[in-house]
Amino acid sequence: MAQAMRNTRKIVIVGGGTAGWMAAAVLARVLKGRYGAIELVESEEIGIVGVGEATIPPIQFLNHMLGIDEIDFVRKTQATFKLGIEFVDWTRLNHRYFHPFGPHGHTIDAVSFHHYWMRLRSQGDTSDIGDYSPSTVAARMGKFQPTAPDARPGGPTIAYAYHFDAALYAQYLRTFAEHHGVKRTEGRIVEVAQRAGDGFIESLLLDNGTRVAGDLFVDCSGFRGLLIGQTLKAEYEDWSHWLPCDRAMAVPCEGGAEITPYTRSTARAAGWQWRIPLQHRIGNGYVYCSRFISDDEAAATLLANLDGKPLADPRPLRFTTGRRKNSWTKNCVALGLASGFMEPLESTSIHLVQSGLFRMVSLLPRDGFEQATVDEYNRLTNIEYEQIRDFLILHYHAVERDDSPLWNYCRTMAIPEALRHKMDLFRARGRVARFDDQLFVEPSWLAVFLGQGVWPQSYDPVADVLSDAEVTARLARIREAIRRMAEGMPTHRDFINRHCRA
Ligand code: FAD
Repeated sequence: MAQAMRNTRKIVIVGGGTAGWMAAAVLARVLKGRYGAIELVESEEIGIVGVGEATIPPIQFLNHMLGIDEIDFVRKTQATFKLGIEFVDWTRLNHRYFHPFGPHGHTIDAVSFHHYWMRLRSQGDTSDIGDYSPSTVAARMGKFQPTAPDARPGGPTIAYAYHFDAALYAQYLRTFAEHHGVKRTEGRIVEVAQRAGDGFIESLLLDNGTRVAGDLFVDCSGFRGLLIGQTLKAEYEDWSHWLPCDRAMAVPCEGGAEITPYTRSTARAAGWQWRIPLQHRIGNGYVYCSRFISDDEAAATLLANLDGKPLADPRPLRFTTGRRKNSWTKNCVALGLASGFMEPLESTSIHLVQSGLFRMVSLLPRDGFEQATVDEYNRLTNIEYEQIRDFLILHYHAVERDDSPLWNYCRTMAIPEALRHKMDLFRARGRVARFDDQLFVEPSWLAVFLGQGVWPQSYDPVADVLSDAEVTARLARIREAIRRMAEGMPTHRDFINRHCRA
């Protein structure tokens, strides 16, 4: 049933943070000015969150779709390359593991690679699962190159994403979007007018008296959720019983000579600290649970654990992990922090903006808002949020740490049923439960399961079909090809110095 018959011709985006400018760039590129006008309203006085600096590989689809030149993008956003995340002290103190992008080895006869590796290990082999991951091996050596040197068909390839300066990224997308016809309006929204009867949003009133009318509103106003929450009262589902961190202190510091091609996440007593190397500085932050540490203590811990001199005072941020039950409500689609926030542990927020946008484009209304279309958007968005949520909870729950109240809480907390099933299935025979269309696929779950001590009792019986000699030889060949590939690459710093300096 159509909720309302009205022409959808003017799109108004509220907010000019990462989410707002991503929305503006994608909509301008896809709609090419033939759907209707696009206007973005933002307030410089309010500003942006601006700490989203680590990404995951699907961002390359976005860049490709926008026709962005990679080197130009890396130069202008002071970016570096990211091969994965190193997790330090998560499982237990003095332990580390790597969650790489891309696969480990490759499927053999329809059986995932790691089953062959587990079979060899059960016979005494000591190779590490990371030896079969191109991104892990390159990261260990501090190497990077987007395409493998001497790339052969079927040979190892590198999967990667970027670390970038969030403010420069928003600026970069703004230039793109304005060039493609998006109108930017400066001003603070002081009132939102709704239509009598159905409550659809009709227009926004700015502090300078300007009125901005529209048909479809994209709420990218950040944590405040100006339209989706304050105006339309879309319910926020609180997940802090599973993801208890609710604050962060962020501070940039001077970088050293080495630029690691990966993010580092170090678990601390009341949360964890990120380290994100950029060309011109290192981004750092302590994400923590305010039940277990004061803001002052968190700031002191952060400042005591930097690589170089801090370049500013620590900046506090507050959030409640969770999501809107209906990110699309009436004629408003919320993206970015207005839609939800699951904390930055696996750098998923910018990606959620991207996937929300692509989903919205695929369900764009024409002459009205059919409830089935709106429901489908919300159904898919909710599935995506829940899959990421469970992957994040795994990091907090599968720990041996018992040295602080936070870790004691997380280790013993009740977890969602879907995650319980995933852990049980993996423990039984190393199988990773699959969902359609999921973001974190088998290699990611595998890396975190194994890294955090969730070990299978056995492996897939089909992996026994090949002979010992055949499996040993195949695995040695894979290891060797990856090692050679990584050795042939320049260091990450050399690659950046040679190709990506402004
Ligand atoms: P904001 O940046 O808050 O932008 C909101 C916009 O709305 C601003 O332009 C503001 O001016 C405008 N606005 C608000 N109210 C009004 C009004 N009344 N009138 C006019 N304009 C208004 N994501 C990642 O992918 N990777 C990471 O590593 C990562 N790390 C993070 C670390 C922390 C601690 C936090 C909190 C977030 C992190 N994120 C990360 C998330 C990332 O920062 C956000 O997803 C991203 O910045 C999108 O923010 P946004 O555009 O939704 O909101």
